Formats: sequence, C-alpha cells, structure tokens
Amino acid sequence: MEKTRLITLIAILLFSSQVKADDFDLPLRGIHGELRLSQMFGNYYEAKGGFHSGEDRSYKGGGDGTRSVYAIGNGKVVKISDLGTLGKLVAIEHIGSFTIPRKHYTRPTTGQSYLYSTENVAKIYSVYVHLTNVAVVDTQSVTKNTKIGSYMDPDGGYHLHFEIRHPDTVHVGNWSLFGRQSNWAVVGGKNTGYYLNLQYMVDDGGREPASFIYANSPRDISILFRTGDSVRVTWSSLNIRSYPALWDGTVITGLVQGAQGQVLDATDTGFRNGVFADGYFWWYVQFGNTRGWCAQDGLERVPEPPTRVKGIDVSSFQGYVDWSEVYNAGYRFAFVRASLGDENPPLLIDDNFYCTFQENDI
Ligand SMILES: [Zn+2]
Repeated sequence: MEKTRLITLIAILLFSSQVKADDFDLPLRGIHGELRLSQMFGNYYEAKGGFHSGEDRSYKGGGDGTRSVYAIGNGKVVKISDLGTLGKLVAIEHIGSFTIPRKHYTRPTTGQSYLYSTENVAKIYSVYVHLTNVAVVDTQSVTKNTKIGSYMDPDGGYHLHFEIRHPDTVHVGNWSLFGRQSNWAVVGGKNTGYYLNLQYMVDDGGREPASFIYANSPRDISILFRTGDSVRVTWSSLNIRSYPALWDGTVITGLVQGAQGQVLDATDTGFRNGVFADGYFWWYVQFGNTRGWCAQDGLERVPEPPTRVKGIDVSSFQGYVDWSEVYNAGYRFAFVRASLGDENPPLLIDDNFYCTFQENDI
C-alpha cells in the first residue's frame, strides 16, 4: 500500500467518529428456532392498559441473566441509564442510509391503528431495555457483533425489550420507555410506558423493529409473500404451528412437499404477517381447513397464471368491422395499418379502410 493511502486510511480511522451501519441483525443470536418473540410492537397488553412500544425477545428457555444481547449493527452508544427494577437501558445511534418500510396496522378489537410511510433516513436508534451485566460504556463505538450485556427478569419473565426509534424520536429523561408521558397509560396511579394510542406511539418515534431489521439486512426481500398469495410446500415436510416460532408454536398439523395453501390476513391473530421472529420469517396460512403459522423457508409462492389479452388483425378483407361486437367478443386491441405501399421502396399512400375505421369507430 502506498504511504499516502496508508496515512489517509489511518486518518479516516482516527477521525471518523462512527463506522457506518450497512447491515443489521437481531439483538439475540442463535440458530433458527432458538429465539422467541413473545410480544410484538403495538400489541395491546391488558395488564398495562396500553400498547407495547417495542418487541420482547428471549432465547429458548428464557434465561438466567447470562444470555448475550448484541448490538444490531455498527454504531455508537449514546445513552446508558439505570431503570431500577426494569434493569439497565442502552441506546445505540446508527449512521448510514436506511429504509423504514411502510407499516399500516389496525387492531380489530379496538379499531385503533397506526400508519407510517416508507422513509429513507440517515440515522436510527436501537434501544435495549431490561439489561444486566452491561458490557459497553457511554460513547463507545460498537459493531454488529459487540455484546452489550445480558437481559434480566423485570418481573414477568427473562426477556429483552427492544425498540427501534426514528431519528426525530421524542426522548425524555432516561429514554425509558420513550416519548411523552402524557401519551402513556396509567395503571394504579403509575405511568406504565405503554401507549394509550397507537398513532401517538408512532408519532413519538416508535417503529416496528422486526420489519426495520429485515428491510436493512442483506436478504432477498423479493421472496416475501403477500396476503392472498398461493403458496406451495418445498420442504419434504413442513408443520403448521399455533404460534410464529419453532420453539413455542405447537404443531397443529404436518404438510407434505407440494401441498398448496394460501397466505391469510393475520391481523386478528395479534401478530403481523411476515413476522421475523426467531430467525425465520413466519406467515399466517391456510392449508385445507387448517389455519396457522408456517416458516417461509419451507414455502414458495405459486406464480399467478399470466394474464392474456386477446386482439385481432384487420385489413380490407374484413370489410366493415363492427367494433362493439369485436369488443363484446373479448378482443381488446386490433392491428390496423395506417398506410400501404406497393413500390420498392414502398410508396406510402392513404389506407382508406383505416380512415374509415377511424372516422366511424375511434
Ligand atoms: Zn416490552
């Protein structure tokens, strides 16, 4: 390497405050099926009287205060706070070029909904709550594989509460949970940190973590399904489960290779369709009379038959053409010629038949 280039490289390394993030992963790592997503962003939690501002994630078996929590991507620690019985909070700022995919969610039982459009941002925050054994310090640069601590039991089971926050998010106090406390549900005279209104949660900066991570990781999102898609089993066997996870989704029925079903609207299940839960993408599907969750990896989309549009070719041989009749017969386009020539090179002259069609019918 040339000396000047080496010096430039060292200068960049010394003076860049933060390595750009270009690849995100889940905050818990494990082989497919070892992770659990027990409560999603925006789920209504009865005991707290409001909507959940993040995702609750854990390893199979819960934990014991030693299971690792990782930074989701390159970034810098911008907040560490002690939330008492809720454990510690770590917030990481990520700089780069990110896409927040559009989300529109309506909770059928209450009619409450939230909506945000697709947006490209240059900054995003990831926030980790219920931590113990915090292994990073304030302003520390981290990479995707930096362990930031372990999760503890905030009195409700060992789990990580994980949030993604818009760059213009409303931060108050110790950042936990987030946003304006006037928007939080109050139970027994205490602020719960659960949002009374789904849209307020989004307006304060909350974004759905799973879809953000998925959209900003180097995966082929063109394979994602949509509601109404016909799907076919590609694995030699695939289970339909009661819950979008290998671990705690009990098997409802087994499917064989080639079985065909359909992707359903999942909004009445408490989960969003296409949930990136445990390293698999899960879809709410129906095969025969059975409804439940299947891992995307074992399915493929059955292509729609191509739509065909019929047309006709007309010339002077057809004489008068009744176009209404042609249309009613299912034809949607016609070839006609605006000119014809009988010389070489062709001499262009008016095509009287075309002119007749044009005057009478178009
Ligand atoms: Zn939570």
